[in-house]
Amino acid sequence: MSTIDTVAVLGAGTMGHGIAQVSAAIGCTVRLYDVNEDAVQGGLDRILSNLEKGIARGKVTEEARVTTLGNLSAVTTISEAVTGADLVVEAAPESMDLKESIFSEVDATAPDHAILATNTSSLSIAQIAAVVKDPTRFVGMHFFNPVHIMALVEVVWGPETSDAARDTAVDFARRLGKEPIVVKDAPGFASSRLGIVLGMEAIRMVEQSVASPEDIDKAMELGYRHPMGPLKLTDLIGLDVRLGIAEYLHETLGSDAFAPPALLRQMVADGKLGKKSGQGFYTW
Ligand code: NAD
Repeated sequence: MSTIDTVAVLGAGTMGHGIAQVSAAIGCTVRLYDVNEDAVQGGLDRILSNLEKGIARGKVTEEARVTTLGNLSAVTTISEAVTGADLVVEAAPESMDLKESIFSEVDATAPDHAILATNTSSLSIAQIAAVVKDPTRFVGMHFFNPVHIMALVEVVWGPETSDAARDTAVDFARRLGKEPIVVKDAPGFASSRLGIVLGMEAIRMVEQSVASPEDIDKAMELGYRHPMGPLKLTDLIGLDVRLGIAEYLHETLGSDAFAPPALLRQMVADGKLGKKSGQGFYTW
């Protein structure tokens, strides 16, 4: 097991900015990279806003805000981000081709000892790891949204992941104050595989006018004590993100339970992506 002091986060969107924030908050030096420079600035702005809300709620101290921001820097190339890193966490969009291309570049410049982690929600760890020279150091670290609030991290070990890499990821998740669970590399891991079935079925129920989105969500919230119903959760995660995961699970696991409903495809085509676009099953 190795010590993580310096972290590179690749992708500064919904997940990347949060992973950068929580890593900087525990004292790591964090370099945040995004292919889109405006997205890096957007990520830093979101971190600042999260910290300020935390201060207003009495959950973050002024000292913690200064330390977190002081540990963060924005960089403009992958090689700048990963040079000297002990851990690289990729949080780019859910596309196998994209993740393979990012890790080919990371592999050329990251130190040999660095643990390489992807925040993929569903894709095969073994397949992404196949592009790096040493797949034993490759692991999945699946954080949840919003990262600075959600406790769970799925640590996903591929067929070639070493025990040391897996244990380092588990230990790092604990240092972040998270609850890690260890999951084998199977499509959708332990979380998305169950969550997508519930989400897709809830959308089919909207299509069939079984009940309103509000009432379907209430059924799960009040009847099953889920903290948030499956349609509100889909809005929060992003309809496009969920569509991508559902297509992948349908293709890899075969069950029609994962088949994306026509309504989901239509809403994504119409730009109704949930909270981030202002409209999904709810108006935000
Ligand atoms: P997002 O679209 O909010 O952010 C992705 C960022 O990656 C964007 O800023 C984009 O500019 C950037 N990017 C694109 N190409 C890049 C490249 N080549 N190098 C570096 N950055 C690049 O997406 P997200 O919701 O943060 O999802 C990121 C990953 O996390 C996906 O694999 C997703 O499945 C996973 N995930 C998402 C959630 C969620 O709730 N949104 C939860 C858990 C895991």
